[in-house]
Amino acid sequence: MSQQNGVPQNDGFLPYPKGFATNAIHHSQEPEQWDSMAVVTPIVTATTYKQFGPANFKKYEYSRSGNPTREVLENVLAKLDNGKYGLTFSSGLGATTALFSMLSSGDHIISGSDIYGGTNRLFNKVATRFGIEITLVDFTDLETFKKSIKSNTKLVWFETPTNPTMQVFDLKAVAEIAKSHNLIVVVDNTFLTSYLLRPLDFGADIVCYSLTKYMNGHSDVVMGALVTSNSDLFEKLKFLQNSMGIVPSPFDCYQVNRGLKTLALRMEKHKENALVVAKYLENHPKVEKVLHPGLPSHPQYELFKKQTSGHSGTFSFYLKGNIESSKKFLQTLKIFTLAESLGGYESLAELPSVMTHASVPPEQRAVLGISDTLIRLSVGLEDVEDLIVDLENAFSSV
Ligand SMILES: *Cc1c(COP(=O)(O)O)cnc(C)c1O
Repeated sequence: MSQQNGVPQNDGFLPYPKGFATNAIHHSQEPEQWDSMAVVTPIVTATTYKQFGPANFKKYEYSRSGNPTREVLENVLAKLDNGKYGLTFSSGLGATTALFSMLSSGDHIISGSDIYGGTNRLFNKVATRFGIEITLVDFTDLETFKKSIKSNTKLVWFETPTNPTMQVFDLKAVAEIAKSHNLIVVVDNTFLTSYLLRPLDFGADIVCYSLTKYMNGHSDVVMGALVTSNSDLFEKLKFLQNSMGIVPSPFDCYQVNRGLKTLALRMEKHKENALVVAKYLENHPKVEKVLHPGLPSHPQYELFKKQTSGHSGTFSFYLKGNIESSKKFLQTLKIFTLAESLGGYESLAELPSVMTHASVPPEQRAVLGISDTLIRLSVGLEDVEDLIVDLENAFSSV
């Protein structure tokens, strides 16, 4: 990364968001708001709050409906996404549960076909039981997307880049089509975070997060969030957050707020390390193909540059061989931990076909290219030369 007048330049990608790190550290966290003038947001564990008179309370009444520690986090999250309102949930899937609960029986969701396995399961095994119809679509094909819109379609849901095959969608184009049919557009931005992509700027209505991943970044909290600038959607979702009881704990909110302080720094390093690893893999004789949208070899590299400030540490590659080669490779790795999840400071590796995406039906996995040799990496913050040595050692074992 080069510098110009102290401002980092971002070769061909969108510039980094102005004031991002300052906002992550200071927005909504003025010490003056606390009687103690505490510089660090206090963890308020109280479940209930004293009232001046019956139904006459200062700001909070009960911690499911509102909590000071949680509110600070929700405000920062909104700010970082150029949004007006933030809401946090007990997990990323908890946030998605609130989303589909805005709909009613008979409504229709158009979802990206290549999405987080748990979201796929939630839509197809839970939402459908409440009479919600789901259609899976490849959003690189805008004509098919248009044709799949029906009179009962209410919501469009997708991830970009997709998980685990790293397809990139044209955010503006999808949002424009959706808008012309009055559909709510939701983007799951877990893979890139608000540091690298701000979907509301491209016309999305709601940004969804598993904060469990990069946003918290330390693999020690499970939490989700939604950010929007639409006050109607916010009111509906806030009502559901409280009514359905899908709220996070104040301690966890403190942890995520702390994690956000280093988000800009961490994402820079994830991005840098992952690019080094991806280029190494691209030149490796035992690698079939690398799927990383920050590489010029990616089919949607040019589009990706226009809508993001770069890619994070998570990407996939095809190993030459079969399921046995994949198993041997993954079991030989020492610094990369064989585990599900992504976005923490530590490097992880996994086999989506039998791990994160095992709940996706086999026929659908075949269409998407989630084969037994597709390996997903979450490149962490270790010294990258150690990561390369670790990978080289694993390659020698297969
Ligand atoms: C992990 C993940 C989720 C689910 O989040 P949880 O916090 O585990 O409930 C949703 N979307 C993406 C892209 C994820 O990686």
